[in-house]
Amino acid sequence: MPDDCLFCRIAGGAIPTDFEHEDDRVVAFRDINPQAPTHILIVPKRHIATVNDLAADDADLVGHMMLTARSLAENEGIAGPGYRLVVNCNPDGAQSVYHIHLHLMGGRQLRGLG
Ligand code: 5GP
Ligand code: ZN
Repeated sequence: MPDDCLFCRIAGGAIPTDFEHEDDRVVAFRDINPQAPTHILIVPKRHIATVNDLAADDADLVGHMMLTARSLAENEGIAGPGYRLVVNCNPDGAQSVYHIHLHLMGGRQLRGLG
């Protein structure tokens, strides 16, 4: 685990954080600067810097991240009304923490992308 990676430190317990979910592969915690009433980050425990660094055998992990987000959306009561899942990659994608994470955002009407 890279000692200088914020999300490795959170996932590894070095920075005390309330987890909304934890299992053997991922943790989920609320974003420090929420963009919606529900804004939760789903983060793999293993360090992977960007989507570009995913390997073919990470497909199950990525699927697990999405299914974890869906389960959290149900817990938050936003599954029916709806929500958004986002993964940013590299500077043009506005990635700011270089340890992959899936944003779950909902609880209000989000603007369309078009
Ligand atoms: P990115 O811009 O890389 O897609 O998303 C990084 C997210 O991490 C941002 O939404 C930011 O608010 C959040 N974040 C940054 N530092 C912390 C922190 O120390 N704790 C938590 N809970 N979220 C953080
Ligand atoms: Zn990391």
